[in-house]
Amino acid sequence: VSLEDDIEAFGQIGRDGEGVTRLAWTAEIEAARAWLLQRLADLGLRASVDEAGNVLGRWESGRGTAILVGSHIDTVPHGGRFDGALGVLSALEAIRQLKQNGIRPSRPIWIAGFNDEEGALLRTSMLGSRAFVGGLDLADLREHGVAVAMAAAGFDLERLPEAKRIDQVGAYLELHIEQGHTLDERGIDIGVVTSIAGLVGLRARFTGETNHAGTTPMRSRRDALVGAARVVLALRNDARRRSDSTANVGSISAEPGAANAVPGRTVIEIDLRSSSRDHFVRLEPRARLLIAEIAAEERLDVDIELVQSKPPVELDPTLQSLIASAAEAEHASSIDIASGAGHDAMLIAPHVPAGMIFVPSRRGISHSPDEFTSPEHCLLGARVLARTLTALVTN
Ligand SMILES: [Zn+2]
Repeated sequence: VSLEDDIEAFGQIGRDGEGVTRLAWTAEIEAARAWLLQRLADLGLRASVDEAGNVLGRWESGRGTAILVGSHIDTVPHGGRFDGALGVLSALEAIRQLKQNGIRPSRPIWIAGFNDEEGALLRTSMLGSRAFVGGLDLADLREHGVAVAMAAAGFDLERLPEAKRIDQVGAYLELHIEQGHTLDERGIDIGVVTSIAGLVGLRARFTGETNHAGTTPMRSRRDALVGAARVVLALRNDARRRSDSTANVGSISAEPGAANAVPGRTVIEIDLRSSSRDHFVRLEPRARLLIAEIAAEERLDVDIELVQSKPPVELDPTLQSLIASAAEAEHASSIDIASGAGHDAMLIAPHVPAGMIFVPSRRGISHSPDEFTSPEHCLLGARVLARTLTALVTN
């Protein structure tokens, strides 16, 4: 068995012609769990599924808290074969290498295949790792139809709190594809992740006045779409001034939605990110001020709703240097890099030291069937992971 074989085999699960679709609480993710349980058992690990649908494999050795290694097994609709999967499959490869090297870990090693990181089915992103650290809001999940989907898959929403096992973990390692183009463009093998960007999600509803497109004088219009469009550009221009921040308006809807009517109502969904802790706290107030100013100039009413707020997370400096040394020992080039995308590590890092290893994504493409990391880079990443893990369990 090789890592390449595992990537090929796991990529068949949920394959749908246009990519891979494994959403939480579906038959595809159940098949992925069954496959992973078997692979863990083959490696001699104690394999089980927890109350949140996460797969856990335990190598109970030595004493103390476990080193947890893994990533997620779900995908976005029509996603690729590497996002999430590579972190779990390279953890299997790392265990294989440790066993081949005759290592007897001084403490337990656990593998995690987290469920529902993408949250693509019911917008419950990172449900699996959130349950693992005990950070779920059950009341909120009850409202969002999660119980029904879980019950259909043989799980019980009320038992989610039992999935909390972070107290038995001492550190976390996650290998992931970069999902950006920095490593690929610069020809670097390994990214040592320093932090994960914080995210503020806002929804802005603009209300002006719907009227006839041909008879309403330009000067007296209260055009909600024009106001929203100005906000889109202003947020972009503001984010362009900093290298550590991004702004995105990914959804816009205008009513009544006819070419011959002045749009009286417009809603936009805003995604603001920053890896800087100082700047993160300014994201929401800055955006609110900018939106209010433009709305006033366009004579619009505006209502701004905070949809989500996740602060940036710093990854553990000691683990960063262990990963960098492991890369050096493998004769791999490496750089420090901040992650713009969210990961399970974000949930775990506030509880225990967490480290992340990035491998290059061809042309930075992800969440797409075209997602690709070369077999050489997959294996190199797994070797860096194995070395880092070895350093943690042989002292
Ligand atoms: Zn991922």
